[in-house]
Amino acid sequence: MREENPELHRQRVSASLIGNKRRWLGDKASYYAKHMWILKHWERADHCDFCHKEGAGRYEWAHKYHGESRNRDDYLQLCPSCHRKFDAPIYCPHGHLYTPENTLLNCRGHRLCRTCQEERRNAANN
Ligand SMILES: [Zn+2]
Ligand SMILES: [Zn+2]
Repeated sequence: MREENPELHRQRVSASLIGNKRRWLGDKASYYAKHMWILKHWERADHCDFCHKEGAGRYEWAHKYHGESRNRDDYLQLCPSCHRKFDAPIYCPHGHLYTPENTLLNCRGHRLCRTCQEERRNAANN
């Protein structure tokens, strides 16, 4: 590797990271647009409605039903760790627990319930 001006190198690296991020955001654009709307019209989330932990650094608005609306009653304020748990339900739509053994990922990174997959396969075979 060639010696470079470290400042120049840092700028180049961060520019390429930003480029990647933009590409990655493609299909999430509407999600971010919604969050920008919230940030503009509501105050910053400042507590967690789940764990009531203080000092989490930042808090986020989360939609209670994983949908989209501009109704504040539909939103919770969550700390990032509760938000992650909230966005990743622990039960599949049929009520099977997503344990590591019971969780499959499809090619898009979405979780699938192994029990449901097997039940569906069995139903198809019968
Ligand atoms: Zn929390
Ligand atoms: Zn299931």
